Amino acid sequence: MNRYLCAAALLLAAGFLVVVEVRGAHAQAPASAPADSNRTVKLLPGLDKELVDSSVNPCDNFVQYACGNFTKLYPVPADLPGYDSLFMVQEHTQIVLHQLLDQVADKSAQHTPNEQKIGDYYATCMDEKAIDDAGLKPFQPELDRIAALSDKKQLTDLLAHDQMINIGAFFNYSEQQDFSDARQQIAAVDQGGLGLPERDYYFRTGDAAEKTRKDYVAHVATMLTLLGEPADKAAADAQKIMDLETALAKVSMDVTDRRDPHKVYHMMAVTELAQLTPAIDWPQFFAKTEVPGITTLNVTNPDFFKGLEAVLDSTDLETIRTYLRWQLVNSTPSYALPKPMYDADFDFYGKELSGEQVERPRWKRCVTATDNGLGQAIGQVYVNSQFSATQKAFTSQMVHDIEDAMDGELDKQDWMSAETRAKAKAKLHMVANKIGYPDHWRDYTKLTVVRGDALGNAFRAAEFENKRLLAKIGKPVNRDEWFMSPSTVNAYYDPSMNDINFPAAFLQSPIYDPNATDAENYGHLGFFVGHELTHGFDDQGSQFDGNGNLKDWWTADDRKRFDTMTDCEVHEYGNFTAVDDVKVNGKLTLGENTADNGGLRLAYLAFQADAKRKGIDVTAKDDSGYTPNQQFFMAFGQDWCGGWRPQLTRLLVQTDPHSPDPIRANGVVQNLTDFGNAFGCKVGQPMMPDNACHVW
Ligand SMILES: [Zn+2]
Repeated sequence: MNRYLCAAALLLAAGFLVVVEVRGAHAQAPASAPADSNRTVKLLPGLDKELVDSSVNPCDNFVQYACGNFTKLYPVPADLPGYDSLFMVQEHTQIVLHQLLDQVADKSAQHTPNEQKIGDYYATCMDEKAIDDAGLKPFQPELDRIAALSDKKQLTDLLAHDQMINIGAFFNYSEQQDFSDARQQIAAVDQGGLGLPERDYYFRTGDAAEKTRKDYVAHVATMLTLLGEPADKAAADAQKIMDLETALAKVSMDVTDRRDPHKVYHMMAVTELAQLTPAIDWPQFFAKTEVPGITTLNVTNPDFFKGLEAVLDSTDLETIRTYLRWQLVNSTPSYALPKPMYDADFDFYGKELSGEQVERPRWKRCVTATDNGLGQAIGQVYVNSQFSATQKAFTSQMVHDIEDAMDGELDKQDWMSAETRAKAKAKLHMVANKIGYPDHWRDYTKLTVVRGDALGNAFRAAEFENKRLLAKIGKPVNRDEWFMSPSTVNAYYDPSMNDINFPAAFLQSPIYDPNATDAENYGHLGFFVGHELTHGFDDQGSQFDGNGNLKDWWTADDRKRFDTMTDCEVHEYGNFTAVDDVKVNGKLTLGENTADNGGLRLAYLAFQADAKRKGIDVTAKDDSGYTPNQQFFMAFGQDWCGGWRPQLTRLLVQTDPHSPDPIRANGVVQNLTDFGNAFGCKVGQPMMPDNACHVW
């Protein structure tokens, strides 16, 4: 059920994700503060002059100029793989949520049923001693289930059960909007079952890649030992698991291919799926997940399901049982693991893959866990105390301004035929805006949260959510749905919904600062609104029409010209160095780079229109020492201030469709001459090259 995991899972980059977020996986998973303190985190203002390194010429290296002092003022905390401006917003939000959760976890006070649930969920997560004392006991029913597997025919029921509680063995199963008819909700099965972040981790050559694989096998062995296996057997079993996963990886698609909606959309009859993977009784599988009667579904990657059959056929039952035990503990949220297992998990995924030095404080993990488990219940409490009508009204106005700017831009695109332009405009005018929180809150009445049962709570919350998702299959699409909780510091565009979504927690300073200048707010929030809107017209989003259907609405010539323009960005970004000898993957990051470039241009145009309306001279310096135009770009640039451990950058370049933050800043301003003009740069300087790319 990993459809939208890309937002939340640094290490489980699974799922046939179509939704495109403003930030990558690192935006969510690891956010926290130093382990040794509960220090307060301030929200940065719209423009923070303390961050500026004035020894650098902005025309040479803009992000270094705008952000040069950031890492001196805010070094990367030991428990984090990186720390940046938007992490700060997230960390601040976590502190607010922490206070709210502490209040509702207090059993002596009166609470609403939802408050009671999140309070109990959080308090149970916080009771580390109870989790450690219980050891493997809470896992016993699941371990018994696996031990009872005496025939491969019994796998169907077990895998159906595992999918419902988010144990990602062998493949993933969920629902989605039908790409070709966005009014319909369909079932989908997808590749999965890997423990390393992405398929290429199993095949990449070189010392670093080989070390990662060796350490991964050692980590699997450690976890099997902690599950009670003798060390020798665990080492041999870990290698068998590695072989099994490598076979799955071989038939998996890589992250770049998975951005192409046509490559992950293969409608099939269940009878056809049954021919690909006869080892699983699919009608029985669907019935077990309480969705009987499915006749057709999306098999995202048919080759994978053919390969899965070969894996299931050639693997002996004992190895399958061992693999299922590994998947059980590896899929379990880490807070519910007893300490020795949590430590081992941290050593590999936290330290080795991400570069974190120490474990996150418990309360931070538990705030995240509660948000993951009961996102809209905690979100409702958050919104009631933290989100104002002003934030909503300002954002609505901003969205309106940016849409106007895009409408005007479409008129100026002379490479585009009138026919395609009219359809682009129709799509633009159909984009739905979701700001702050959903109109209808989720009903958690049927979810049981038991104080003192951490693992049970995690499984029940997963099952509750999966049942809710799967119940949508065969029913008309609910256009009100939100896929992020209101307390999430992120935003997204969903091409099937054709909507842009800005959770309440995203709309805080510096992204929207009521005390900032208009220029600064356009540079922050205006950019992000433009970014999401442009996603509707990037290489991926442009393949969907205004109704959210995967339907070609372009003339062939227009598409050809569009592809030539995006090729420029593929090249440009593919030449940027992310870390050491690792370059950015220009194809994987194309959609995000297009959205970044279009987003800043649209925000700039909207700001110019706003300034004109208000009679502001955008070229006259004010008390800040900057002109409004410069303030606009400084605000944008400072969204990408930060420091990142090299391990994290390496991981993200291989898995995340977003370019690294400094490149997001410099890459975009290099393509926008208005930036160079604002700072008096000359053509030929690094931030004002003579071969800029322009898509939107
Ligand atoms: Zn994006």
